[in-house]
Order: sequence, then structure tokens, then C-alpha cells
Amino acid sequence: MTTTVENPVNLTGDEPIPYTLNVSLAKAFAAITAPRTWTFTVPAWCNFHAELTQVCPTFCTDDHASDIDTPTPPSDICHGQFIDGCIVQLTDSNQPTEPWGVLSGHLQVSPYSTDPRDRVPHVSVELVQEIWTDALNPEQLAELIEKLAGRVENLRHVHAELVAAVAEWEARR
Ligand SMILES: [Zn+2]
Repeated sequence: MTTTVENPVNLTGDEPIPYTLNVSLAKAFAAITAPRTWTFTVPAWCNFHAELTQVCPTFCTDDHASDIDTPTPPSDICHGQFIDGCIVQLTDSNQPTEPWGVLSGHLQVSPYSTDPRDRVPHVSVELVQEIWTDALNPEQLAELIEKLAGRVENLRHVHAELVAAVAEWEARR
């Protein structure tokens, strides 16, 4: 779709100059956010390149402030996004339960990691607080999702059994 609009910003004081704008194309360009580019300093003890430029992948939500502000070894550079989990009351002892984080994680990539798997975007899932999966590729994450979905579905059946069990218990007491 093509439409003609008036130039919304008239800095010159001249008559506004109508221009032709392909609206669909403009929307498409607006949807593509420019990649964030930033530079960090490699510490002298790393013994190579004083500065390296980084381009964040689209998924990265890290502001990299600490990477930019202080000399950082390349192996510490990590682009990432936090994955929200949920809170469940749990305990690992006989003590009362406490709120623990469940099923949170990170989508991330470490371009200079010594582990080649970390140099490719991957997801690490924190199943329960401080208990993590390995760095999962798409197939491995899909496999984990299916496993967990199967167990959740089983809990639905168990829930139905529990409802019936409580009803029976109520009727017999
Ligand atoms: Zn980044």
C-alpha cells in the first residue's frame, strides 16, 4: 500500500514537502530493531586485541554495562535473556517449606566460550533452584518439554484421583 503524507517535521520553515511512503515497507522496517553494537576492552593479561566489538543477538536483553565498564575476558561475554519460572513451596529437609524458584532459565550464547556448545544459542533450564540442565539445543529442549508435559498430564490424572479419594474419605468418615 502506498500513500502520500506530509512531512511531519518541518525544520526549515519552508512549505512542507509531501513525500511518498510505502506504509507496509515502513512498518516492516520499524519492526526490525537495529542490532545493539558495543565495544569492550580485553584485559592486558589476555595478551591479544585491546578492544572487541560485539553485536547483540535480537534475543539479548542484557545491558552489558559491567562488560563495557570494566576490562572483561572474552570468555566471560554472554548474551542472554532470563526465562521466568514460578514459585513453589518446597523443602529439601524436614524443615517447613519455603518459596523456591522452579522452571526458570536462560536463553544465551557465549561467543568466546571454550565450550563450543556455548558458542551456539542454547537454553539452560533451572528445574529447581540451583539445579540446572545442561546447555540444551532446540531438539534437546523439545525433548525436555515433552518429558515435563507428560508428567504434568500425569499429575492431571492424579488430581482427578485425589478429588475422588477425598470425596470417598468424606463419605466414609
Ligand atoms: Zn547482548
